[in-house]
Amino acid sequence: MRKILIALILSILLSGRAEALSLLTVTTAQASPLANITNNEIILEFPETATFRATFTDDVNITSVVLEYGNEQQTCGEVIAKAFPQFTPGKTVNAEWTWEMRQSGSLPPGATLWWRWRIMDANGKETVSETKTATWLDDVHDWRTMNNGDFLRLHWYEGDQIFAIDLAKAAYNGLQFNETQSGLKAEAPIDVYVYASTDDLKDAILYEPSWTGGRAFPDQDIVILGISESDLDWGRDAIVHELTHVLVGHLTFSCLGDVPTWLNEGLAVYSEGELDTPSQRQLEDAIRDDTLLSVRSLSGSFSEVSDKAYLSYSQSYSITKFLIETYGQDKMTALLLALRDGMTIDDALIQTYGFNIEGLEDTWRQAIGAQPRSVFARPTMQATPTYVPTIIPVSGAPLAQQSTPTVIPTSSFDSTPATEIPARTSPPLGLSLILIGICCVMLSLIGVLILGVVVSRQNRTEGENG
Ligand SMILES: [Zn+2]
Repeated sequence: MRKILIALILSILLSGRAEALSLLTVTTAQASPLANITNNEIILEFPETATFRATFTDDVNITSVVLEYGNEQQTCGEVIAKAFPQFTPGKTVNAEWTWEMRQSGSLPPGATLWWRWRIMDANGKETVSETKTATWLDDVHDWRTMNNGDFLRLHWYEGDQIFAIDLAKAAYNGLQFNETQSGLKAEAPIDVYVYASTDDLKDAILYEPSWTGGRAFPDQDIVILGISESDLDWGRDAIVHELTHVLVGHLTFSCLGDVPTWLNEGLAVYSEGELDTPSQRQLEDAIRDDTLLSVRSLSGSFSEVSDKAYLSYSQSYSITKFLIETYGQDKMTALLLALRDGMTIDDALIQTYGFNIEGLEDTWRQAIGAQPRSVFARPTMQATPTYVPTIIPVSGAPLAQQSTPTVIPTSSFDSTPATEIPARTSPPLGLSLILIGICCVMLSLIGVLILGVVVSRQNRTEGENG
């Protein structure tokens, strides 16, 4: 049930091509008079490359040119990427260096790039240029921007204003719902880029993993989606879903913690409102047939198998709804903060609710009228986890991403499944299990050999004695 939320005042800021190349803004200035820096610019070939260029002049030969660059985002450490462009030493130097996104990993549309030059002359004097920034976005589309409240900037290029207002309202309501119901509050403006289609969205990113509908980049407060005018119903939910991932990512950002998938997706689906009818029916069937997935198995990547993928989302929704509506949003916030601070999900659950994952599953099953958890029947891990290629950002830490499969939540329940979910950087669990298995087998063999030797010696001794 969607709650009717506060009436909106939309402040509409329409600006054609608001984010194009011309939007290069200078943020700080710390130029030294030592050397003169001119033609300091960036040329974007979206989504492939960003080329940095500048001309330096000095009274003596310039001997070193270093480009420091990156994109603005939450990171675990202060690692600054450096590039060393080739140049001919002299009193006037032209330097150029190209950031190849295919090598470094794609950045989300709307990301803020920054750069500065650090040059050294033959006298050992260093000059650091001003730091400049630019928005990483295509200039193919005629982007317009609409603000709604302090925390939402919707960017779109196709469809009329009514289309954009519709989505901006849905997004705003989603933020309100998250704040009042789940305790998730926006702390910085979130930029939502609405592409006119899935194809346009794919053109804007270099990688094409198994998701197609949308993606959240919590570290950069960016959401990208492909929503056509005929897909508004899905679009409204998807936008809220992805915004929720940004909020969760923000609240839990740290270099320690990890939010289990069932909780992250559960909060996202919960923010959309009630489950759609097919998902609800599938969940009810699973309860009736006792085919629910174990909660622990939903902590990692969701299944690639269509039915299981849908059930994973529906179950995550049900578990999260149960936690929020039974124990309150304060406890949900406490749980998320415990995860942020590096607690395991079991410890965080115990500290907050007094039960671990299995305890949660038992309590939840009872609450929804499901059979008691079978201790032995269900595997704790799924057979075919999906690993999404991880985008490696310049500054070191992997980008946190969450995706919405095109078909969730939607009426087209039978279409091709939605897969994937969070990016993982640790080695695949399957590999670890295989290695552990091999170790066990080796140890067993050694044990058998030792036992054999001992027994045969004993036999020999007994024979000698007897
Ligand atoms: Zn999601």
